[in-house]
Amino acid sequence: MKSRELKFVYGPVPSRRLGRSLGVNPIPLKTCNYSCIYCQLGRTQHLINERKEFFSKEDILEEILYSVELNRGKIDFITFVGEGEPTLNKNLGWLIVETKKTELPIAVITNGALLYREDVREDLSKADVVLPSLDSVSENTFKILNRPHKDLKIEKIIEGMVEFRRSFEGQIWLEIILVKGINDSEKELEGLSRVLREIKPDRVYINVPIRPPTEPWVEPPDEEAIVRAHAILGDVIPIVNQEMGEFGIEGFDNPVEAIKFICRRHPMREDEIIETLKRNFDGVDSGFIMKLVKEGILRKITYRGTNFYITPEVRMVRKQNFTNSN
Ligand code: SF4
Repeated sequence: MKSRELKFVYGPVPSRRLGRSLGVNPIPLKTCNYSCIYCQLGRTQHLINERKEFFSKEDILEEILYSVELNRGKIDFITFVGEGEPTLNKNLGWLIVETKKTELPIAVITNGALLYREDVREDLSKADVVLPSLDSVSENTFKILNRPHKDLKIEKIIEGMVEFRRSFEGQIWLEIILVKGINDSEKELEGLSRVLREIKPDRVYINVPIRPPTEPWVEPPDEEAIVRAHAILGDVIPIVNQEMGEFGIEGFDNPVEAIKFICRRHPMREDEIIETLKRNFDGVDSGFIMKLVKEGILRKITYRGTNFYITPEVRMVRKQNFTNSN
């Protein structure tokens, strides 16, 4: 099948939780109701809490069906994820129902903030797995960490998650992102543990910032804090390692377009870029990456001693405090 440029769909990319995940982004870049300090996409440009259409739902679906056909046998999940918060798209329910006709499992990665709304719970009820995040149960810490829209209160969000659990028949895999000195204390973890008993997710993942965060001072917790989180949260599944696996670039006949497409959504290490491109293209090495950096196609960011590459538009709204070069 002839390749074409896609606007809404990318991958499949390796996901720590979902295997080979075909990503669907139904939201304009950095449109979210949070502006998390650890976000990989930079500060939120459009902080909204209102559900909108944004794009033609038929156009999004057409790309999904095209990509499924192109990557048959290579997809474990179709994942609605977004360069922002996917539940802000008011056609999400329709998209999930239509996408389910491919007979592939559907996952939605969400910050879970809108689960207090009945229409959002109804939309997500058609997914197979919903992966909400909850980093703190304290209003103060929630504000520091997630920097939410002013209409959002953590108590209401937690109530929404509990309500969703009551009605949702699929799996809930809840993720907690721990940031050093912000939400890794005993008090914070005990609060989370208490609320987890009410939400009753099927799985709990602890994650830490391993790729460049929005705020350069954000750091992963110490080993000791991770151990403490295990002890307090009990039956958690740690996923603190870097992703393993292959990024899908099938359908691209040009390595520059392929890498731009993935790095726009996913900061990649140099070894990941070389490994990915080598499968389909010749002559890809460190020199090739440096050339893209020089031409302004990729931007290098060094985070905790590792170089990552992103496309420039991802971080154009934030102050660059990382070591970076264009
Ligand atoms: S991490 Fe997710 S919820 Fe937080 S600002 Fe980024 S897109 Fe929004």
